[in-house]
Amino acid sequence: MTRRTTTVAIVGAGPAGLVLAHVLHRAGITVTVHERLSRAAVESAARAGVLEHRVVEYLRALGLTDRLTAEGERHGRCEITCLGENVLVDYGALSGGIRHWVYPQQLLLRDLIAAYLADGGSIAFERPVESVTVGADGRPELNTADGPLTAEYVIGCDGAHSVVAAAFPDGADGPGRRYPYDWLTVLARISRPVEQIRYAVHADGFAGMMPRTADVGRFYLEVPAGEDPAGWGERRIRAELERRLELDGEDPALGALLETGMLRMRGKVARRMRAGRLLLAGDAAHTVTPSGAKGLNSAVADAADLAAALIAELRDGDGTGLDGTGLDGTGLDSTGLDGTGLDGYERRRLDAAWQTQEFSEQLLDLLHLPAGLPPGQREFALRLRLERIRRIAAPGPEGAAFALAYAGAGELRLPAMWPSAQGGAVASGATGR
Ligand code: FAD
Repeated sequence: MTRRTTTVAIVGAGPAGLVLAHVLHRAGITVTVHERLSRAAVESAARAGVLEHRVVEYLRALGLTDRLTAEGERHGRCEITCLGENVLVDYGALSGGIRHWVYPQQLLLRDLIAAYLADGGSIAFERPVESVTVGADGRPELNTADGPLTAEYVIGCDGAHSVVAAAFPDGADGPGRRYPYDWLTVLARISRPVEQIRYAVHADGFAGMMPRTADVGRFYLEVPAGEDPAGWGERRIRAELERRLELDGEDPALGALLETGMLRMRGKVARRMRAGRLLLAGDAAHTVTPSGAKGLNSAVADAADLAAALIAELRDGDGTGLDGTGLDGTGLDSTGLDGTGLDGYERRRLDAAWQTQEFSEQLLDLLHLPAGLPPGQREFALRLRLERIRRIAAPGPEGAAFALAYAGAGELRLPAMWPSAQGGAVASGATGR
């Protein structure tokens, strides 16, 4: 029997896997994509919806934003309510014009799948990868219902329970945190669009209202960790949302609750994102709570970096990823840390993942009161939070730093051969997440 081979095997057709597949395929690299779910299931799961500026600019350079920019909405303001005060954070102004796009994840996935297939790519839907093994020559092999497939590189874009991470010889697992609260998640019909994200910092727990489409909104309610969703009937959810978010006649009215769920709040960053020819991207390497809307955005940022590094390696390197496609021929830059090559990918993206965790953790601290705080001390904690909210809403270094990180300033790296790559800039520093 002929041995099945490919150059790059991607596991998972989520945002990370699809962006990576698209760029590699357009660069002429042979790619296979394996997805355990059906196309309909991938294209219908409602999750994220807030896209960073740099992610949309990157997708625009790839020619993937026609529908996004036609149907998506630009958002540059959010509001944070606390102790009856509603503080407007005009992060678009504070950042000098950097704003989000609001466009549901499932629509973005639909666009990415359609574009990739139209370009001649193919995706093996309903083909779970059962395991990944590494041969004596270091080449990885995927095991699927269609039999083994040998690849030069296998990329785990397969989410939080990655089979690729599980194949790392020394494991990929890294430190994580389980928060002392969960978020009850709600998708609800609304009478008119949510104009801006609202975060409610409340003595009885956080609540959030996020835009999605013209008639659907995403809502969050803080509940104790491990809470049983059965205790949250429709009437209770509505009452808590209306009370904590202080919804009134000026706000969209809540219609039918379309979907409710319980998000167990965790943060985690892998210790490794690479073991030889196995690499990880997106949630397979790091999971972050939705507080700062960073999960999908970080997944695309990983994919952008990895695509550029793999293209450079496969076109100019010897295919091992260890021969120095970096700035000085070693793969390391003058600081000895990262460069732009494949061998610096892990360092660059782990640093970025920790920056993202730190940003999201700061936001979580702001939005939640400390666990177990007696009712008599809650007003004190809320008053301190109001002070911080006012500071991030005000012009100045703190407001600007929050605004730039929140809206996702900077640029993602295009492959050097891309027409609009301008040297294949790498996002760095405060905007490098
Ligand atoms: P995934 O999207 O998880 O994709 C992984 C894919 O791999 C899946 O399609 C899965 O079926 C497939 N797969 C898994 N195992 C296998 C296997 N063995 N074989 C083959 N295929 C496999 N992020 C934001 O940036 N902004 C937001 O506003 C935001 N809001 C969110 C709200 C909610 C309620 C939730 C749950 C998440 C939210 N996120 C948000 C997070 C965001 O959805 C994820 O971070 C993002 O989807 C990660 O993309 P990914 O490609 O890494 O992984």
